[in-house]
Amino acid sequence: MQMIEIVPIPAFEDNYIWLIRNGTTAVAVDPGDAGPVVDYLHRQQLRLVAILLTHHHGDHTGGAAELQRHFDAPVYGPRREAISSITHPVGEGDLIDLPSLGCTFQVLDVPGHTAGHIAYYGINSLFCGDALFACGCGRLFEGTAQQMHASLAKFSALPDDTNVYCAHEYTLENIHFAKAVEPGNAALLARERTERETRSQGRPTLPSSIGLEKQTNPFLRCSEPAVMAAATRFAGHPLAEPVEVFAAIRQWRDQV
Ligand SMILES: [Zn+2]
Repeated sequence: MQMIEIVPIPAFEDNYIWLIRNGTTAVAVDPGDAGPVVDYLHRQQLRLVAILLTHHHGDHTGGAAELQRHFDAPVYGPRREAISSITHPVGEGDLIDLPSLGCTFQVLDVPGHTAGHIAYYGINSLFCGDALFACGCGRLFEGTAQQMHASLAKFSALPDDTNVYCAHEYTLENIHFAKAVEPGNAALLARERTERETRSQGRPTLPSSIGLEKQTNPFLRCSEPAVMAAATRFAGHPLAEPVEVFAAIRQWRDQV
């Protein structure tokens, strides 16, 4: 019995291409660049058996076509986005069975950052692209606050011990903003100490976990009195619903 391992392949400024490997096979998530993935696979003597894409942005899809040609691997990606390298369009409720890797992923529709953004959930892990970040969430380029708020609620409903594999190393910047929203959140302050230490050693702050995000990520805490009060101060008028709180802190985040 082999062991599943998930390794980050750094790309561009601050992207992580996640590689899920087991024995001699591997799957790449959001390969924005083919070069570092091919190098890793060759060095480790791995065969790529699938590519998973979360949304259409080039820093997530740019290497997919080259990898597809090189390894003849299927490319799974959002049904509702036009990405030419996709061979298997998928959406909410679809299951992706990867027997050679020994895992199955469930597809979640999580619009907001882009209109058709999807996430992959399986092996106690969530690959969420630019929808959810450690202590933050993606910008609303195509979707509404309502959509993103609903997408984040889907993530919150996953088990607390789910490992969260985001596509960017934005954690320290996000914590800086989260502290402006919730300066009295002890879990957030403790997390800042841990993540600073991690970064000072040059290591990724990921994966995070759903439980940790629920304790420290302001975008998942829109019903918390402290977050509601901070959002209300920013908006300058009372906010009744969690989705309005979400919209206000998303707008606030875009300004800093
Ligand atoms: Zn993106």
